Amino acid sequence: MTARMPIVGGNWKMNTDLASAVELAEDVVAGCGTMVESCDVAMFPPFPYLQAVGRALGHHGLVLGAQDVYPKPDGAFTGEVSTAMLLDLHAEMVLVGHSERRHVIGERDDLIAAKLTTALAAGLKVVLCIGETKEQRTAGTTRDVLNTQLTAGLGTVDADGMRDVIIAYEPVWAIGTGETATPEDAESEHAFVRERLAELYDADIADATRIQYGGSVKPNNAEELIAGPNIDGFLVGGASLKADDFLAIIRAAAATADAGSSERSYREARNA
Ligand code: PEP
Repeated sequence: MTARMPIVGGNWKMNTDLASAVELAEDVVAGCGTMVESCDVAMFPPFPYLQAVGRALGHHGLVLGAQDVYPKPDGAFTGEVSTAMLLDLHAEMVLVGHSERRHVIGERDDLIAAKLTTALAAGLKVVLCIGETKEQRTAGTTRDVLNTQLTAGLGTVDADGMRDVIIAYEPVWAIGTGETATPEDAESEHAFVRERLAELYDADIADATRIQYGGSVKPNNAEELIAGPNIDGFLVGGASLKADDFLAIIRAAAATADAGSSERSYREARNA
């Protein structure tokens, strides 16, 4: 089995102001130290703070990410942001299909797929977020939902493109609620996603693709969640707004790599 480098992302959503965004980024950089050698760490600030946060991240090995992108190069798309704009600000990664985009803004799978392929074509790494609502879980349709969102979201991405894709399994009912999937349930859904990736692509790609868990991850549950063999890190909302909490979660993920992996981060591999 491939040793997958853990990856932890902080999705700041529509939080912080300019000063607190920079301070948060600086605190995380200062606390990360050598952990970035055993865990990829990404931060997704609001669009207006990308540049300032990017400066704060400097060249310390952390990744600047954006919370969304629009799948057109330019033009009359009021309020939207293109891949070229993100690249101008040195963003390297982008979230697509976050549950708040799906369920609050109303994005559908075809738009999400277009965002994903456009971002990949521009050279960005993409985190494709998928997850079921409470009603879907209660109705027993979780796997149908995950399968649909995964298959439709990946759309026409080929094997090569999958190198730059990360999946985030985020049960909607666990996001921002303080309710978390049990480690057993999270592991079981991650294993299902990996099985589906093997069917859609092949065993090697399934094995190499990182699958993050998201949904009320906190310092006190990160360690037991990351123990799942198919859980490769976290996408963190609320707890990423507090440097100490975010760093504790990174520490839990980095410890798994320290324990079992000597794989280089994608950044080192890319620069080699
Ligand atoms: C998220 O925004 O992706 C998320 C998982 O939020 P929280 O950690 O607050 O549940």
